[in-house]
Amino acid sequence: MTVINSYEDIMHQHRSTPWRHGVMDEVFPPEVRAQVLAAVSQGTPLKQVMEKHGLSDEVAYGRARWDGDWERQLYSALLDGRNPDLRHGRAWTYAKYRCRCPECQATQPGCTAAQRFLQQHRPAPARPACG
Ligand SMILES: [Zn+2]
Repeated sequence: MTVINSYEDIMHQHRSTPWRHGVMDEVFPPEVRAQVLAAVSQGTPLKQVMEKHGLSDEVAYGRARWDGDWERQLYSALLDGRNPDLRHGRAWTYAKYRCRCPECQATQPGCTAAQRFLQQHRPAPARPACG
């Protein structure tokens, strides 16, 4: 059994990655994740849905940094639920309309998760037909 001598020991233990992921499953369990995806894909802002469950939207984005499946599901839901009347992929839409779809998020500096999602999942632009 590990003897905990100091605050540093506790922090060291608790900072281990498996521990943190286990805690994340407790605070943000699969059934809550499913509800969040359903609401977001119907157009409810992620922040609002997460707050309903007593969580910050950072919890959802944080999980996307290490859980590839969740990342795909989350950004797909954000894409499905975005307002079709807006022009996406613009910083203006992000700021003025608070759109958090991957295309608008990708306009923000440091938003690598959204950019990565788009690179992997956005269909390639149709090539002009030859001849
Ligand atoms: Zn958007």
